[in-house]
Amino acid sequence: MDIRTVTEKFATDEQCLQYIQKMRWPDGIVRCPTCGTDKVKRYERPKNEKNKNRRAWFFICLEPSCREQFSPTSGTIFHDSHLPLIVWFHAITLMLNAKKGISAKQLQRDLGIGGYKTAWYLNHRIREAMAEGALHPMGGIVEIDETYIGGKHHGHGQGPHTGNKDIVIGIRQRKGKLRLIHTDNTTSETLAKYIRENVAHDVEMVVTDEFAPYPGAMIRAGVHGSKHKTIKHKAGVYVEGDVHTNTVESAFSLFKRGVIGSFHKISIKHLQRYLDEFGYRFNRREAPDAFIETVARLCGFKPLPFNVLTSEKA
Ligand SMILES: [Zn+2]
Repeated sequence: MDIRTVTEKFATDEQCLQYIQKMRWPDGIVRCPTCGTDKVKRYERPKNEKNKNRRAWFFICLEPSCREQFSPTSGTIFHDSHLPLIVWFHAITLMLNAKKGISAKQLQRDLGIGGYKTAWYLNHRIREAMAEGALHPMGGIVEIDETYIGGKHHGHGQGPHTGNKDIVIGIRQRKGKLRLIHTDNTTSETLAKYIRENVAHDVEMVVTDEFAPYPGAMIRAGVHGSKHKTIKHKAGVYVEGDVHTNTVESAFSLFKRGVIGSFHKISIKHLQRYLDEFGYRFNRREAPDAFIETVARLCGFKPLPFNVLTSEKA
């Protein structure tokens, strides 16, 4: 969703809260999160109440043995945040739309957030919600390559790299999903593990360059010999029909431009989070419901399809 649409749709904190409420109780029946009853009463909070982070309305469970007080954001990441929901919604949009990522400093400027720490926290919490874990195994043609963040790409053919802690393995299905993995070594055991986790058994072809550990890794991972194709970069060959690693390399270069352009330098400790954020955005570059999915992830709700959530006026 573009920032103009988000600004129109979510002009007030109340609209954001209504949206979360609808996401939480899609059938429109508000239920107590503690006892499950729908006998609840809604209370409006006066706007001039001192504590600004209090949401505009809340509910009280009418079940005499329960009497739970709750709001649509109870139990979600938004509940303890003192930031207006509107700031969260705008931050999500900015992060989803920034192809190369957006720094906490830039978020702070764009959203007029008082302190850098607050912006940093916001940036990181949204980034965390973008961690996908295991993806569906990739089929068709899969490209695998490795790169080094913040250092030189040492020559191939010298066996597994060790001692270099900022290696990134990229696995990308041609015209499909991307997965970026931070690892501290590229032995054939390690590569095999990631191949097993991410490549389907019935894959048509796996393309790598001539980096020495790949053949062993393919055998370990059960990728049948003839399915593994090697492009001989050392011999100056970069494309041989379908055999190339150009699309995973282009993802690497976009990530690196992001790291250099937006973040200047990133801590290795956080590298996987940046990779996850990048992969998440990359894999949803044409998904209309990426915004909804991200809000749902932050809430810990099951995301609803875009058309269900937007079918009625919130
Ligand atoms: Zn209750």
